[in-house]
Amino acid sequence: MDFRSLIGQERVRKILVRTADRDHLPNSFLFCGPEGVGKWAAALALTAYLNCSNRAEGDSCGVCPACKQIRKLQFPNLYIAVPTPPSKTDKEEIENYWEILNQKIAEPYSLIGGQRQMTIPVATVREMRQSLSHKPPQGGKRVVVIEQMDRMLTTSADALLKLIEEPPSETLIIITTARPERLLPTIISRCRRVRFAYLAESDVAHFVLAKAGVSEVKAALLARLSRGSLGRALYLATGEIEQDREVAKLIFKGMFTSDPIDLIAEASDILPFTDRFRINRIINIWQTLFRDLILLTGGQQNRLLINVDFAAELEKIAARDLPQGKLLEIPAHLGSVTQDIDLNVDTRSAVGALLIDLHRMLNIR
Ligand SMILES: [Zn+2]
Repeated sequence: MDFRSLIGQERVRKILVRTADRDHLPNSFLFCGPEGVGKWAAALALTAYLNCSNRAEGDSCGVCPACKQIRKLQFPNLYIAVPTPPSKTDKEEIENYWEILNQKIAEPYSLIGGQRQMTIPVATVREMRQSLSHKPPQGGKRVVVIEQMDRMLTTSADALLKLIEEPPSETLIIITTARPERLLPTIISRCRRVRFAYLAESDVAHFVLAKAGVSEVKAALLARLSRGSLGRALYLATGEIEQDREVAKLIFKGMFTSDPIDLIAEASDILPFTDRFRINRIINIWQTLFRDLILLTGGQQNRLLINVDFAAELEKIAARDLPQGKLLEIPAHLGSVTQDIDLNVDTRSAVGALLIDLHRMLNIR
């Protein structure tokens, strides 16, 4: 991974290269920003830049031994902690760890997690501290990457805090997170924060077109649905998006007709509750449907719709007497439910409560 391959994030790239060139690196960076926009890719690009033997023109060479090892995540001076599903044995834990690393080697923008509850185990951080207490085995800069630190257990966070408070020599710690508000303030205050923004829709569309082999029309749709996250767009491209859209549209229609109890019963039969990513994807599709509905009730033309294929149905719903003020609150409410689901709340009860809320907000009689 090098800065050339980083998509968008020009401001971040400039900050990182300038800081490294001037030798003004902090002990710890905090890379914050939405999931799937390149925090991991930037961490690896910086690692390569700091360790490459032929760096030039603000980037690593990509071909020297250090660059190659970093790409395969087998560089001796690179330490990585990633969230993994709970493991019963040490062997299973190592397998889970490498399964995730291999996924990230194959596609640095891929999202980690989804179906299972994931955490960074305390043993990972302790072992890391142990190995970092020795002198570096070779020159260059040691880099520690803590991916999605907000998924770390409190005990692991305490162990990590010690590492940040007493940083080992020649070591840069990079913490990535989409939810900085979940980190200990003492950790945040010791890191230099770098903010990653959502990417341009055109960049995302271009990327999925090239990587996922989808049609141009579908690439544009994925870019819109992912709202500027390459990781999400890729996930949408590989998952059963059409199927999920159908399910989402079916339940969406039900929100304006059924009794909420009937609707919850119907939803229970068809929603994939064991898969958090898919449940959130379905809620994201509802967000786009409500956004379209808000446009239509505000008298906008339907060429601005995301769900063009659903325009006729949306127009019918928009013609009803809907509480405009409440309608405007719905997309944000849906967003907060997806955050709860990210944080491991029970998907079935979250969606049940959501459908009751929506029924109340929409004031359907
Ligand atoms: Zn190199």
